[in-house]
Amino acid sequence: MNPVFRKLLLAGIASAALLSGTSFAADKLPVIASFSILGDLVRVVGGERVSVTTLVGPDEDAHVFEPRPADVKAIAQTRLLVTNGLGFEPWAQKLAKSAGYQGQSVVASQGVKPRQLPAEKGHQHAETDPHAWQDPGNVVLYVRNIAAALAKADPAGASVYQAHSDAYVKELQTLDAWARAQFAALPPPKRQVITSHDAFGYFGAHYQIRFLAPQGVSTDMEPSAKEVARLIQQIQREKIKAVFIENMSAPKLLAQLSKDAGVKVGQTLYVDALSAPQGPAGSYLQLMRHNVTQLAAGMKLN
Ligand code: ZN
Repeated sequence: MNPVFRKLLLAGIASAALLSGTSFAADKLPVIASFSILGDLVRVVGGERVSVTTLVGPDEDAHVFEPRPADVKAIAQTRLLVTNGLGFEPWAQKLAKSAGYQGQSVVASQGVKPRQLPAEKGHQHAETDPHAWQDPGNVVLYVRNIAAALAKADPAGASVYQAHSDAYVKELQTLDAWARAQFAALPPPKRQVITSHDAFGYFGAHYQIRFLAPQGVSTDMEPSAKEVARLIQQIQREKIKAVFIENMSAPKLLAQLSKDAGVKVGQTLYVDALSAPQGPAGSYLQLMRHNVTQLAAGMKLN
């Protein structure tokens, strides 16, 4: 184990031990969600019965997250750990194990049909795309899995969790129908978008939009000069006008791309993280509405 990480863990465990004698939010079920989008879903399903802590907060990048002492403390005190799975947070299980976590765990994406990345993305082997929440149909499964896990950890609340998840599934269906309507008028040649990292695979498959990304499926990979050059040629050849940056990634690469290819960069998309609560993507539903609106406007310029 990395010595700094180990030191953080020990510090966290010591403070957790100090706190364990006191009761905190005694009437609420303590739940940890690995990242902000899951935190929102847990809050929606759990309502007043749960107290949710999010490890990777708004505008933060889960791909390259480093746990902090406060995270170890929080995990030691929680009763349910909710993760995305599909390889999105490889650090989460390690963190739980190191903190001696004894509570329940649920992988929210359980039952989702995983999307494999094509070999042409430059990977040696087929890689699973973790960004399943970008398809609202998958989020129906997320919400059902979260409701079942909350009911298991807190059986007295089972009917409440069921009712909240039923109501939210209806909102997801409304969102999906609305999103389809925004894209409906766009003919196939206009349905092309450039983003910085490859996080829209599920979204693109669901809404029949082609996404091109110079960065791979994770944000820790830098594209080569050759890959960027190829993308610039493609932007010019296919006259792609919809170029977007993401809230949790450095805009430098896309700024360069838009300059070299002579295209204007659109508004920020919220991809792997929510915005701050008062921002344009403070919840999953707001995030999707914001992204769909921006993408549809960008593709219309095409
Ligand atoms: Zn991502």
